[in-house]
Amino acid sequence: MQDNHYFFVKNLLQWHLGHHRPMPWKGERNPYLIWLSEIILQQTRVEQGLPYFERFKAAYPTVVDLANAPEDEVMKLWEGLGYYSRARNLHGTAKHISTALNGSFPSDYEGIRSLKGVGDYTAAAIASFAYDLPYVVVDGNVYRVLSRFFGIETPIDTTEGKKQFAKLAQQLLDLCVSEEFKIAEGKQVNSTPSGFNQAIMDFGATHCTPASPKCASCPMQPHCEAQKQGNIGLLPIKSKKLERRNRFFNYLIINHLDKVFIKKREEKDIWQNLYDFPLIETESLQEERSFLSKNKTVQTWLGESDWGIKSVSPPMRQELTHQRIVATFWEIEMEDNFLQKVANWTPIERKNLTTFAFPKVIDLYIRKKSLPLELF
Ligand code: SF4
Repeated sequence: MQDNHYFFVKNLLQWHLGHHRPMPWKGERNPYLIWLSEIILQQTRVEQGLPYFERFKAAYPTVVDLANAPEDEVMKLWEGLGYYSRARNLHGTAKHISTALNGSFPSDYEGIRSLKGVGDYTAAAIASFAYDLPYVVVDGNVYRVLSRFFGIETPIDTTEGKKQFAKLAQQLLDLCVSEEFKIAEGKQVNSTPSGFNQAIMDFGATHCTPASPKCASCPMQPHCEAQKQGNIGLLPIKSKKLERRNRFFNYLIINHLDKVFIKKREEKDIWQNLYDFPLIETESLQEERSFLSKNKTVQTWLGESDWGIKSVSPPMRQELTHQRIVATFWEIEMEDNFLQKVANWTPIERKNLTTFAFPKVIDLYIRKKSLPLELF
């Protein structure tokens, strides 16, 4: 056993005694609720995810309730949280558990890991929190804490880095739950798998934070390699910088009397199964009003009808992991009785727009437009 491993585990658990992050799912043993919270919290901050967790828990107290819910209802409840494939996987997996597994959540690591949308991290979280199985969680917090304390410079987004960090984290957890450690320290600290996993995540989230870690008051400081080397700000190392592709969406909001047209996004692209408006995607930002009348697709859609542009929004942005969406909303007024239906367009009353699940940028536009103040 290495001394710095023992030092790390002991001090981490002692630190945790006085620094629990209170969260509603802490201490939760129900695997369905742990799974729900973990899926909601993937790529989402706790403050943002919390109300969604509460809403889902209230609407669907069991996995079978979730399985039996209509998809549009689940997507609507998820609206605003982003990464919508998570909601689709959540719903699909609930159906799978409800039918193929008779409504029983798997109780071993392999069974949990085989669920769609569940990766190594989520499987370890459910296995350890629900069943106290000795599987270690490795999330962004864990990468940061371990890379700094042990001075590891292997990039965390490489196969080698992932393996190295996973191996080290598992060694630390195994030490924590070993008889030897329990006999020596077990009376003072919580040396269970869930205790260790919770402690290291809380330590990364509140103490050894990305921008301003609290090194001055850190119990790890005497053996922290990054502290010794003075390279805290450089760790953990990533090999690739995130590149975002710009996409320019021109949304046509075709108004006739009190109705507008919406459509479901069924193609394999971002925001699948959410709703949006008739869309023209362009290579660059379109600022000239004449863009619409010259556009061939618009001409096909609107044909000979009498129409005019009522207003154009300023460009609105939504950042996704690999894409930046720049959306412009073109409000179009149809003078004659426009009943033409293109593909899957559906006419609905404008006041009912908020009952459908839209991507964030569209939802924001709709809500701003419903304010009495004319913002555009
Ligand atoms: S000394 Fe600083 S960098 Fe090292 S573990 Fe503590 S908070 Fe993190």
